[in-house]
Amino acid sequence: MADAMTPNVAVALASGVSAALVLSKMRGTARRPPQSQPPAPGSEQRLVQLRCAHQNYAWGKGGERSLVARLMPACSSEAVDAAAKYAELWCGSTHASGPSRLHCPADPQLDGVLLTDWLKANPAMYGSMPADAKGELPFLLKVLSIGKCLSIQAHPDRTRAKQLHTEQPKVYTDDNHKPELACALTPFKAMVGFRPTAEIAASLKSTPELVELIGADVCDKFFGGAADAPRQKALLQELYSALMRKRETAAALNGQLLEKLVARLTAEKHDGRTVEDCEELALRLQEQYPNADIGVWSAFLMNYALLNPGEAVFLAAGEPHAYVEGDCVEIQACSNNTVRGGLTPKHIDVDTLLSMLTYNAGPTRYSEAVPLPGNEYCRKFSEDT
Ligand SMILES: [Zn+2]
Repeated sequence: MADAMTPNVAVALASGVSAALVLSKMRGTARRPPQSQPPAPGSEQRLVQLRCAHQNYAWGKGGERSLVARLMPACSSEAVDAAAKYAELWCGSTHASGPSRLHCPADPQLDGVLLTDWLKANPAMYGSMPADAKGELPFLLKVLSIGKCLSIQAHPDRTRAKQLHTEQPKVYTDDNHKPELACALTPFKAMVGFRPTAEIAASLKSTPELVELIGADVCDKFFGGAADAPRQKALLQELYSALMRKRETAAALNGQLLEKLVARLTAEKHDGRTVEDCEELALRLQEQYPNADIGVWSAFLMNYALLNPGEAVFLAAGEPHAYVEGDCVEIQACSNNTVRGGLTPKHIDVDTLLSMLTYNAGPTRYSEAVPLPGNEYCRKFSEDT
């Protein structure tokens, strides 16, 4: 068994806002739980080795540089291709897009069986969770290895997810919500939610290209502020909507202004100015997505979170985010339901994104780990810590 952290995982998703997860280092060989009489809770025999699916998305790190590729020998028979991008490892997944299978080479009857089928035959394995007749798990745990910024995205709540799936089943293939919590395994960077409005205003005032794109009238209203929180949210919604709709209504101008921004910041850096983090991020995003991508401007409006290993952020429904760089382990509801606004070659749905964001603004809220008594491998992350 490789000595790297093996993604054989026992996970308990306690609710939409808190999750406990256990990353177990497997020892010894896989053991086969009898199908008729599952071992008692707590027994070591409850561990069964899995073969896990991986995803080769374009934003993943290449070859062995990717943590996903380095973990693969522990849970996949597939050889690592040095030229391929390895983005995600889906651990203990019952999702159809990347299902896990049992790895029991000594037992031909069990070897290769879908985790879903095995859970259907062994409902007692759900332990304290309610068993699911379809053999599904309510959560999905992934390891992500990020070489290039992911899309600007948000996830719908349950009601909206059902609606999107009904209306556009080919685009939104799941009818489930997708709250997610990302825990950094390496220094990890992400855009997480909207910045405090005063920071957004300051950033706009020092970025004339962005004001020109959004429109001075909308920006002036935003600078004027509002007396109450609902009105402030409405101003942010108006500002962000005006920006994102320019993707279609002013595509040429967007491209020109992005070029102008890059030229100005590059010249100012050359002249010795230390650029702000958001400006450096915008330059980097423009380099990664050079085709006039409206998502580049989000660097000025969203928090730029820097996580140390072990720190985590929770993304509730309707909170915009984009992971920028690093490796993380992510726990989420079992869903692939993502609404994207930019920084991706995948389907972009600006109208849906704008209609479902919360427009909450404020500093990044980090979720800290609380040790669980009696288990050195357990930490509990909560939105409220
Ligand atoms: Zn997400």
